[in-house]
Amino acid sequence: MKTLRASSMDLLFKCAGSLHNTEAVRVDEENEAAEIGTEVHALLAKRVSRWPFGPSALSGDSDDVRFLYEAGTRWWAAHGETIPDAVVETALSWQMTSGEIITGHPDVLSMTLKDDGWDIAVVDWKTTRLFDVSYHHQMMCYLWLSTFRAITADKPFAKFTYIVVYLRDIDPDTKLPNYELVNVPPDMEVDWAARFITKVLLWDGVYRPGKHCTYCPIHIDCPARTKALAEGVNALVGRADTLPDDPARIVAAYKTMQTVEKAVKDLRAAIRQHIEDHGPIQGDGFDIVLQETQGTDVIDPQKAWPVMNGLLTDDEVAKCVTVQKNAFLGMVASKTPHGKKQAARGAAMGLLRDAGAVGNKQQKARLTLIRTGVEDE
Ligand code: SF4
Repeated sequence: MKTLRASSMDLLFKCAGSLHNTEAVRVDEENEAAEIGTEVHALLAKRVSRWPFGPSALSGDSDDVRFLYEAGTRWWAAHGETIPDAVVETALSWQMTSGEIITGHPDVLSMTLKDDGWDIAVVDWKTTRLFDVSYHHQMMCYLWLSTFRAITADKPFAKFTYIVVYLRDIDPDTKLPNYELVNVPPDMEVDWAARFITKVLLWDGVYRPGKHCTYCPIHIDCPARTKALAEGVNALVGRADTLPDDPARIVAAYKTMQTVEKAVKDLRAAIRQHIEDHGPIQGDGFDIVLQETQGTDVIDPQKAWPVMNGLLTDDEVAKCVTVQKNAFLGMVASKTPHGKKQAARGAAMGLLRDAGAVGNKQQKARLTLIRTGVEDE
């Protein structure tokens, strides 16, 4: 029996190959970003449900977790009152007559029965650094699943709303995270369910590789992606310094390059892991081994300080050291009581600026792919 999660809906609407190809090797990659996301969601769940915990609950967390949690807390303080009777991490599920089980855990769910019918809202916290990714089908799935909890004989669904909060995307004026609020017309969840059945459950058997493959559980073993990669690499080879005239072909080559870069990174990590677990790989007259490299000397700054001062002038010592801004400000914050850390960081930066210690190093502009049109689902 297949179980489908709401969080995989946007991928499945783009290509349902991973649902139907049960032969391919599946991977579920753990990464630091996912761990941070889990931690932030757990903290915000406590905040929304008014779990009694004090500032010390955050004391051991990283700057990143704290930043994201505080952004979510500010958003909830500004908008939480518009979301009545909020409950967190509610387990929603429904079994299709064809056997598949659809599950979802919206971060915040609000269901209120008013005179004109049910008013349902879901809120989802996003800790991603990508702000142009669509979560429409995940949110629609939550709304659709929630209707099964709200059914009463004579009450219609009056209002559906979903809100996606991008915790890293802070508005410089309000200091609140930006968010997307969508009012979904009643009955649209029925249309959505029909499209879900047609596009996902009754998949037409056509694989649709693209940028989304990165997030697909079978991306390492998918025949269509492997073919697309091979074609892309063939198209790139020999053209590295002569771009085609057609801009659309340059964009296509750029996308292929991104996919290939990710595939190479994954392959390198997989080979390294294999050698660590099983030893060198031998074949075709070659061995792939992990070769020890000679370490570089690391100098302990505290012990080096008096030695350097004995040999060099202050100006000369200054040319040998760099100050790590985040480490310095983090150290200042660690000596400051909770609630005043941000101000202490700002004050320390102000002192550095007053002393003329802050310069600006221009970074080389980064190549970036920005979506300007509407992509097909
Ligand atoms: S890797 Fe890409 S093409 Fe293959 S099933 Fe997944 S989404 Fe579809």
